[in-house]
Amino acid sequence: MSKEKLGFEHLEANVIDSGKCCSCGGCEAACPIGAIELQNLSPTLVKDCTKCEFCWKSCPRMIADYSTIYPVVYGENVNRDPALGVFRQAYALRNADESIRKRAQDGGVVTAILLHLLETGAIEGAIVSGIHPDEPWKPKPMVAMTRTAIISATKSRYTRSPNLVALKEAMKELKLKQVAVVGTPCHIQAIQRMRLAPLKKVDRTVVMTIGLFCSETFKFKELMEDKIVGELGIPLTNLRKLDIKGKLLVYPRGAEGSLEIPLTEAQGWIDPGCHGCKDFASEFADISVGGAGTPSKWSSVLIRTEQGQAVIEEMITKGLLLQDELADEGLNRLRKIATPKIKTSH
Ligand SMILES: Cc1cc2nc3c(=O)[nH]c(=O)nc-3n(C[C@H](O)[C@H](O)[C@H](O)COP(=O)(O)OP(=O)(O)OC[C@H]3O[C@@H](n4cnc5c(N)ncnc54)[C@H](O)[C@@H]3O)c2cc1C
Ligand code: SF4
Ligand code: SF4
Ligand code: SF4
Repeated sequence: MSKEKLGFEHLEANVIDSGKCCSCGGCEAACPIGAIELQNLSPTLVKDCTKCEFCWKSCPRMIADYSTIYPVVYGENVNRDPALGVFRQAYALRNADESIRKRAQDGGVVTAILLHLLETGAIEGAIVSGIHPDEPWKPKPMVAMTRTAIISATKSRYTRSPNLVALKEAMKELKLKQVAVVGTPCHIQAIQRMRLAPLKKVDRTVVMTIGLFCSETFKFKELMEDKIVGELGIPLTNLRKLDIKGKLLVYPRGAEGSLEIPLTEAQGWIDPGCHGCKDFASEFADISVGGAGTPSKWSSVLIRTEQGQAVIEEMITKGLLLQDELADEGLNRLRKIATPKIKTSH
Protein backbone atom coordinates (compact mmCIF):
# COMPACT_ATOMS: atom_id res chain seq x y z
CA MET A 1 0.00 0.00 0.00
CA SER A 2 1.49 3.38 -0.99
CA LYS A 3 2.05 5.95 1.74
CA GLU A 4 -0.38 8.88 1.81
CA LYS A 5 1.23 12.02 0.37
CA LEU A 6 1.59 15.08 2.56
CA GLY A 7 0.78 18.53 1.20
CA PHE A 8 0.77 22.13 2.34
CA GLU A 9 -0.92 21.17 5.64
CA HIS A 10 2.32 19.38 6.62
CA LEU A 11 4.30 22.61 6.18
CA GLU A 12 1.61 24.57 7.97
CA ALA A 13 1.57 22.26 10.99
CA ASN A 14 5.34 21.82 11.31
CA VAL A 15 6.68 25.23 10.37
CA ILE A 16 4.19 28.04 9.76
CA ASP A 17 1.76 27.59 12.68
CA SER A 18 4.59 26.77 15.07
CA GLY A 19 6.34 30.09 14.34
CA LYS A 20 9.43 28.50 12.76
CA CYS A 21 9.01 30.05 9.30
CA CYS A 22 11.84 32.45 8.42
CA SER A 23 10.07 33.76 5.28
CA CYS A 24 12.76 32.60 2.87
CA GLY A 25 10.22 32.21 0.06
CA GLY A 26 11.47 28.70 -0.78
CA CYS A 27 8.05 27.06 -0.63
CA GLU A 28 6.56 29.67 -2.97
CA ALA A 29 9.40 29.10 -5.45
CA ALA A 30 9.11 25.31 -5.15
CA CYS A 31 5.37 24.91 -5.66
CA PRO A 32 4.94 23.82 -9.30
CA ILE A 33 1.33 25.03 -9.54
CA GLY A 34 1.73 28.42 -7.85
CA ALA A 35 -0.48 27.45 -4.93
CA ILE A 36 1.62 29.29 -2.31
CA GLU A 37 2.07 33.03 -1.92
CA LEU A 38 3.83 34.83 0.90
CA GLN A 39 1.31 37.28 2.32
CA ASN A 40 2.71 39.58 5.00
CA LEU A 41 5.78 37.31 4.90
CA SER A 42 3.69 34.23 5.78
CA PRO A 43 3.18 31.40 3.25
CA THR A 44 -0.50 31.18 2.37
CA LEU A 45 -2.34 28.62 0.25
CA VAL A 46 -4.07 30.45 -2.61
CA LYS A 47 -5.37 27.46 -4.60
CA ASP A 48 -5.97 23.74 -4.14
CA CYS A 49 -2.90 21.75 -3.14
CA THR A 50 -2.12 18.62 -5.18
CA LYS A 51 0.10 17.16 -2.43
CA CYS A 52 3.21 16.95 -4.57
CA GLU A 53 5.29 17.44 -1.38
CA PHE A 54 7.80 19.88 -2.91
CA CYS A 55 7.04 22.77 -0.53
CA TRP A 56 7.89 21.03 2.70
CA LYS A 57 10.71 19.06 1.13
CA SER A 58 12.27 22.43 0.15
CA CYS A 59 11.74 24.17 3.48
CA PRO A 60 14.94 24.93 5.43
CA ARG A 61 13.08 24.75 8.73
CA MET A 62 12.17 21.10 8.08
CA ILE A 63 15.81 19.99 8.11
CA ALA A 64 16.23 17.37 10.80
CA ASP A 65 19.88 16.78 10.04
CA TYR A 66 22.13 19.20 8.10
CA SER A 67 24.43 16.34 7.15
CA THR A 68 21.82 15.24 4.59
CA ILE A 69 22.80 18.31 2.54
CA TYR A 70 26.60 17.94 2.68
CA PRO A 71 26.92 15.37 -0.11
CA VAL A 72 24.80 17.56 -2.45
CA VAL A 73 27.20 20.45 -2.14
CA TYR A 74 30.59 18.90 -1.52
CA GLY A 75 30.44 15.24 -2.41
CA GLU A 76 31.25 12.49 0.07
CA ASN A 77 34.13 12.18 2.54
CA VAL A 78 34.97 15.80 3.17
CA ASN A 79 36.55 17.41 6.21
CA ARG A 80 34.09 19.71 7.87
CA ASP A 81 35.13 22.56 10.16
CA PRO A 82 32.62 22.15 13.02
CA ALA A 83 31.90 25.90 13.20
CA LEU A 84 32.28 27.10 9.61
CA GLY A 85 31.50 24.07 7.49
CA VAL A 86 33.49 22.70 4.59
CA PHE A 87 35.70 25.21 2.78
CA ARG A 88 38.64 24.81 0.45
CA GLN A 89 40.04 28.34 0.76
CA ALA A 90 39.58 31.38 3.02
CA TYR A 91 40.34 34.92 1.87
CA ALA A 92 40.09 38.52 2.93
CA LEU A 93 38.87 40.27 -0.24
CA ARG A 94 37.52 43.59 -1.39
CA ASN A 95 36.07 45.04 -4.55
CA ALA A 96 38.75 46.87 -6.54
CA ASP A 97 36.17 49.45 -7.64
CA GLU A 98 36.22 52.05 -4.89
CA SER A 99 32.95 53.67 -5.97
CA ILE A 100 31.08 50.38 -5.41
CA ARG A 101 33.00 49.62 -2.23
CA LYS A 102 31.81 52.91 -0.77
CA ARG A 103 28.16 51.96 -1.36
CA ALA A 104 28.57 48.37 -0.16
CA GLN A 105 28.10 46.83 3.27
CA ASP A 106 31.64 45.54 3.72
CA GLY A 107 34.15 44.88 0.94
CA GLY A 108 31.55 44.97 -1.85
CA VAL A 109 32.56 41.41 -2.73
CA VAL A 110 29.01 40.14 -3.28
CA THR A 111 28.32 42.93 -5.76
CA ALA A 112 31.67 42.38 -7.49
CA ILE A 113 30.93 38.67 -8.02
CA LEU A 114 27.44 39.32 -9.37
CA LEU A 115 28.67 42.00 -11.79
CA HIS A 116 31.44 39.70 -13.00
CA LEU A 117 29.03 36.80 -13.56
CA LEU A 118 26.59 39.07 -15.41
CA GLU A 119 29.23 40.76 -17.54
CA THR A 120 30.89 37.49 -18.56
CA GLY A 121 27.51 35.98 -19.52
CA ALA A 122 27.63 33.31 -16.81
CA ILE A 123 24.25 34.50 -15.52
CA GLU A 124 21.27 36.33 -16.99
CA GLY A 125 20.19 37.71 -13.64
CA ALA A 126 20.82 37.65 -9.90
CA ILE A 127 18.32 36.95 -7.14
CA VAL A 128 18.96 39.68 -4.60
CA SER A 129 17.28 41.68 -1.88
CA GLY A 130 16.48 45.09 -3.29
CA ILE A 131 14.75 48.04 -1.68
CA HIS A 132 11.03 48.61 -1.78
CA PRO A 133 10.32 51.59 -4.09
CA ASP A 134 7.88 53.24 -1.67
CA GLU A 135 9.15 52.09 1.71
CA PRO A 136 12.76 52.97 2.53
CA TRP A 137 14.80 50.10 4.00
CA LYS A 138 11.97 47.58 3.45
CA PRO A 139 13.65 44.61 1.70
CA LYS A 140 12.13 43.66 -1.64
CA PRO A 141 13.28 40.50 -3.44
CA MET A 142 14.41 41.34 -6.94
CA VAL A 143 15.71 39.70 -10.11
CA ALA A 144 18.58 42.03 -10.96
CA MET A 145 19.37 41.78 -14.67
CA THR A 146 21.48 44.90 -15.18
CA ARG A 147 24.59 46.42 -13.65
CA THR A 148 22.50 49.27 -12.23
CA ALA A 149 20.02 46.89 -10.59
CA ILE A 150 22.79 44.80 -8.98
CA ILE A 151 24.48 47.92 -7.60
CA SER A 152 21.16 49.23 -6.27
CA ALA A 153 20.92 46.18 -3.96
CA THR A 154 24.17 46.80 -2.08
CA LYS A 155 24.26 46.95 1.76
CA SER A 156 22.54 44.72 4.31
CA ARG A 157 18.98 45.07 5.51
CA TYR A 158 18.84 43.28 8.87
CA THR A 159 15.17 42.41 8.45
CA ARG A 160 13.46 39.55 6.61
CA SER A 161 13.77 39.42 2.85
CA PRO A 162 12.03 36.49 1.10
CA ASN A 163 14.60 36.46 -1.71
CA LEU A 164 13.43 33.14 -3.17
CA VAL A 165 10.13 34.66 -4.24
CA ALA A 166 12.27 36.37 -6.89
CA LEU A 167 13.63 32.96 -7.95
CA LYS A 168 10.07 32.01 -8.84
CA GLU A 169 9.75 35.18 -10.93
CA ALA A 170 13.09 34.47 -12.63
CA MET A 171 12.16 30.89 -13.56
CA LYS A 172 8.44 31.08 -14.20
CA GLU A 173 7.81 34.59 -15.53
CA LEU A 174 11.15 35.72 -16.94
CA LYS A 175 12.09 32.17 -17.99
CA LEU A 176 15.76 32.73 -17.17
CA LYS A 177 18.03 29.74 -17.61
CA GLN A 178 21.02 30.80 -15.48
CA VAL A 179 20.89 32.80 -12.28
CA ALA A 180 22.96 33.40 -9.17
CA VAL A 181 21.24 33.52 -5.79
CA VAL A 182 22.36 35.79 -2.93
CA GLY A 183 20.92 35.04 0.47
CA THR A 184 21.25 34.35 4.14
CA PRO A 185 22.00 30.74 5.16
CA CYS A 186 18.30 29.81 5.22
CA HIS A 187 17.87 30.93 1.59
CA ILE A 188 20.82 28.82 0.55
CA GLN A 189 19.63 25.81 2.55
CA ALA A 190 16.29 26.04 0.73
CA ILE A 191 18.07 25.97 -2.64
CA GLN A 192 19.98 22.83 -1.67
CA ARG A 193 16.78 21.26 -0.29
CA MET A 194 15.09 21.97 -3.65
CA ARG A 195 17.98 20.18 -5.37
CA LEU A 196 17.45 17.21 -3.08
CA ALA A 197 13.63 17.21 -3.43
CA PRO A 198 14.47 16.88 -6.43
CA LEU A 199 13.52 20.04 -8.33
CA LYS A 200 15.68 19.61 -11.41
CA LYS A 201 14.79 22.98 -12.90
CA VAL A 202 16.15 24.76 -9.82
CA ASP A 203 19.26 22.60 -9.98
CA ARG A 204 19.84 23.61 -13.61
CA THR A 205 18.92 27.29 -13.26
CA VAL A 206 20.83 28.22 -10.11
CA VAL A 207 24.43 28.20 -11.29
CA MET A 208 25.98 29.99 -8.31
CA THR A 209 24.96 30.59 -4.68
CA ILE A 210 26.50 33.39 -2.63
CA GLY A 211 25.67 33.00 1.05
CA LEU A 212 25.96 35.77 3.62
CA PHE A 213 27.07 35.12 7.18
CA CYS A 214 24.07 35.63 9.44
CA SER A 215 23.46 35.81 13.18
CA GLU A 216 19.79 36.83 13.00
CA THR A 217 17.25 39.18 11.45
CA PHE A 218 15.09 41.60 13.38
CA LYS A 219 11.40 42.46 13.18
CA PHE A 220 10.93 45.49 10.91
CA LYS A 221 8.44 47.29 13.16
CA GLU A 222 10.45 46.94 16.36
CA LEU A 223 13.88 47.79 14.92
CA MET A 224 13.21 50.13 12.04
CA GLU A 225 9.99 51.89 13.02
CA ASP A 226 9.84 51.87 16.82
CA LYS A 227 13.55 52.14 17.63
CA ILE A 228 15.26 53.94 14.74
CA VAL A 229 12.44 56.24 13.64
CA GLY A 230 10.47 56.48 16.90
CA GLU A 231 13.12 56.54 19.60
CA LEU A 232 16.29 57.66 17.81
CA GLY A 233 14.34 60.13 15.63
CA ILE A 234 16.02 59.11 12.36
CA PRO A 235 13.64 59.00 9.38
CA LEU A 236 14.45 55.93 7.28
CA THR A 237 15.08 58.19 4.27
CA ASN A 238 17.91 59.61 6.35
CA LEU A 239 19.46 56.27 7.35
CA ARG A 240 22.73 55.56 5.54
CA LYS A 241 23.75 52.17 6.92
CA LEU A 242 23.12 49.58 9.62
CA ASP A 243 25.81 47.24 10.86
CA ILE A 244 26.35 44.63 13.55
CA LYS A 245 29.76 44.67 15.20
CA GLY A 246 29.20 43.38 18.73
CA LYS A 247 26.37 45.93 18.84
CA LEU A 248 23.89 47.33 16.36
CA LEU A 249 25.38 50.40 14.71
CA VAL A 250 23.07 53.00 13.16
CA TYR A 251 24.66 55.46 10.70
CA PRO A 252 22.54 58.53 9.86
CA ARG A 253 23.27 60.39 6.62
CA GLY A 254 25.39 63.48 6.86
CA ALA A 255 26.63 62.72 10.38
CA GLU A 256 30.02 61.56 11.61
CA GLY A 257 30.04 58.10 13.22
CA SER A 258 27.17 55.97 14.45
CA LEU A 259 24.61 55.54 17.20
CA GLU A 260 24.83 52.27 19.12
CA ILE A 261 22.12 49.85 20.22
CA PRO A 262 23.30 47.11 22.60
CA LEU A 263 22.54 43.61 21.28
CA THR A 264 20.99 42.80 24.66
CA GLU A 265 18.29 45.39 23.89
CA ALA A 266 17.89 44.10 20.33
CA GLN A 267 17.41 40.48 21.52
CA GLY A 268 13.70 41.03 21.96
CA TRP A 269 13.30 42.11 18.32
CA ILE A 270 14.86 38.98 16.82
CA ASP A 271 12.52 37.41 14.35
CA PRO A 272 10.99 34.25 15.88
CA GLY A 273 11.75 32.39 12.63
CA CYS A 274 15.47 32.72 13.42
CA HIS A 275 15.21 30.86 16.70
CA GLY A 276 16.73 27.43 16.29
CA CYS A 277 18.80 28.40 13.25
CA LYS A 278 22.24 26.84 13.49
CA ASP A 279 23.95 28.02 10.32
CA PHE A 280 26.07 31.18 10.69
CA ALA A 281 28.50 30.88 7.82
CA SER A 282 26.13 29.89 4.98
CA GLU A 283 27.58 26.41 4.94
CA PHE A 284 25.86 25.30 1.79
CA ALA A 285 26.76 28.13 -0.58
CA ASP A 286 29.38 28.04 -3.32
CA ILE A 287 30.91 31.17 -1.78
CA SER A 288 30.17 32.56 1.70
CA VAL A 289 30.79 36.21 2.56
CA GLY A 290 30.68 38.22 5.79
CA GLY A 291 32.12 41.23 7.52
CA ALA A 292 33.36 39.58 10.72
CA GLY A 293 37.00 38.43 10.86
CA THR A 294 38.36 41.23 8.63
CA PRO A 295 38.96 44.98 9.03
CA SER A 296 36.30 47.49 7.96
CA LYS A 297 35.60 47.57 4.21
CA TRP A 298 37.06 44.09 3.69
CA SER A 299 35.09 40.84 3.52
CA SER A 300 35.84 37.40 4.90
CA VAL A 301 35.25 34.94 2.08
CA LEU A 302 35.01 31.15 2.39
CA ILE A 303 35.19 29.25 -0.87
CA ARG A 304 33.36 25.97 -0.66
CA THR A 305 33.04 24.53 -4.15
CA GLU A 306 35.15 24.12 -7.26
CA GLN A 307 33.01 26.54 -9.27
CA GLY A 308 33.20 29.10 -6.46
CA GLN A 309 36.97 28.82 -6.46
CA ALA A 310 37.23 29.19 -10.25
CA VAL A 311 35.22 32.44 -10.18
CA ILE A 312 37.18 34.01 -7.32
CA GLU A 313 40.55 33.03 -8.80
CA GLU A 314 39.59 34.51 -12.16
CA MET A 315 38.46 37.74 -10.50
CA ILE A 316 41.68 38.04 -8.50
CA THR A 317 43.75 37.42 -11.63
CA LYS A 318 41.82 40.08 -13.54
CA GLY A 319 42.31 42.58 -10.71
CA LEU A 320 38.56 42.81 -9.95
CA LEU A 321 39.09 41.67 -6.37
CA LEU A 322 41.95 42.76 -4.12
CA GLN A 323 43.27 40.04 -1.88
CA ASP A 324 44.74 39.82 1.58
CA GLU A 325 45.28 36.84 3.81
CA LEU A 326 42.44 35.78 6.11
CA ALA A 327 44.81 34.91 8.92
CA ASP A 328 44.12 32.23 11.54
CA GLU A 329 43.19 35.05 13.90
CA GLY A 330 40.34 36.06 11.54
CA LEU A 331 39.16 32.47 11.10
CA ASN A 332 39.23 31.89 14.84
CA ARG A 333 37.11 35.01 15.36
CA LEU A 334 34.59 33.62 12.90
CA ARG A 335 34.57 30.27 14.70
CA LYS A 336 33.95 32.08 17.99
CA ILE A 337 30.95 33.91 16.54
CA ALA A 338 29.53 30.83 14.79
CA THR A 339 29.86 28.35 17.65
CA PRO A 340 27.18 29.66 20.05
CA LYS A 341 24.67 29.65 17.18
CA ILE A 342 25.46 26.02 16.43
CA LYS A 343 25.35 24.90 20.04
CA THR A 344 22.30 26.77 21.19
CA SER A 345 19.81 29.06 19.56
CA HIS A 346 18.52 32.41 20.65
C1 LIG B 1 20.30 39.62 7.82
C2 LIG B 1 21.79 39.63 7.73
C3 LIG B 1 22.56 39.31 8.83
C4 LIG B 1 23.96 39.32 8.75
N1 LIG B 1 24.69 38.99 9.84
C5 LIG B 1 26.04 38.99 9.77
C6 LIG B 1 26.83 38.68 10.90
O1 LIG B 1 26.32 38.42 11.99
N2 LIG B 1 28.21 38.68 10.77
C7 LIG B 1 28.80 38.96 9.56
O2 LIG B 1 30.03 38.93 9.47
N3 LIG B 1 28.07 39.24 8.46
C8 LIG B 1 26.72 39.28 8.54
N4 LIG B 1 25.98 39.58 7.43
C9 LIG B 1 26.66 39.77 6.14
C10 LIG B 1 27.14 41.21 5.93
O3 LIG B 1 26.22 42.13 6.45
C11 LIG B 1 27.31 41.50 4.41
O4 LIG B 1 26.12 41.19 3.72
C12 LIG B 1 28.42 40.69 3.79
O5 LIG B 1 29.63 40.93 4.47
C13 LIG B 1 28.60 41.04 2.31
O6 LIG B 1 29.11 42.34 2.22
P1 LIG B 1 29.43 42.97 0.80
O7 LIG B 1 29.97 44.34 1.00
O8 LIG B 1 30.21 41.99 0.00
O9 LIG B 1 27.94 43.03 0.20
P2 LIG B 1 27.33 44.06 -0.85
O10 LIG B 1 28.18 44.09 -2.08
O11 LIG B 1 26.97 45.33 -0.17
O12 LIG B 1 25.97 43.26 -1.25
C14 LIG B 1 25.02 42.97 -0.25
C15 LIG B 1 24.08 41.90 -0.78
O13 LIG B 1 23.29 41.49 0.34
C16 LIG B 1 21.97 41.21 -0.07
N5 LIG B 1 21.06 41.46 1.06
C17 LIG B 1 20.90 42.62 1.73
N6 LIG B 1 20.02 42.48 2.73
C18 LIG B 1 19.59 41.18 2.67
C19 LIG B 1 18.68 40.40 3.44
N7 LIG B 1 18.00 40.91 4.48
N8 LIG B 1 18.50 39.11 3.11
C20 LIG B 1 19.17 38.56 2.07
N9 LIG B 1 20.04 39.24 1.30
C21 LIG B 1 20.27 40.53 1.61
C22 LIG B 1 21.73 42.12 -1.27
O14 LIG B 1 20.96 41.40 -2.18
C23 LIG B 1 23.13 42.41 -1.84
O15 LIG B 1 23.32 41.70 -3.04
C24 LIG B 1 24.58 39.63 7.51
C25 LIG B 1 23.79 39.97 6.40
C26 LIG B 1 22.41 39.97 6.49
C27 LIG B 1 21.60 40.35 5.28
S1 SF4 C 1 4.22 22.40 -3.41
FE1 SF4 C 1 2.85 20.69 -3.78
S2 SF4 C 1 2.27 20.05 -1.72
FE2 SF4 C 1 3.04 22.13 -1.54
S3 SF4 C 1 1.29 23.50 -1.78
FE3 SF4 C 1 2.18 23.24 -3.79
S4 SF4 C 1 0.99 21.57 -4.64
FE4 SF4 C 1 0.70 21.46 -2.45
S1 SF4 D 1 10.83 28.81 5.99
FE1 SF4 D 1 10.75 29.28 3.82
S2 SF4 D 1 10.15 27.37 2.83
FE2 SF4 D 1 9.71 27.15 5.02
S3 SF4 D 1 7.57 27.76 5.23
FE3 SF4 D 1 8.78 29.59 5.59
S4 SF4 D 1 8.93 30.60 3.59
FE4 SF4 D 1 8.27 28.50 3.24
S1 SF4 E 1 19.35 33.51 11.54
FE1 SF4 E 1 18.99 31.73 10.23
S2 SF4 E 1 16.79 31.76 9.83
FE2 SF4 E 1 17.36 33.80 10.56
S3 SF4 E 1 17.74 34.98 8.66
FE3 SF4 E 1 19.72 34.16 9.41
S4 SF4 E 1 19.92 32.23 8.30
FE4 SF4 E 1 17.80 32.80 8.14
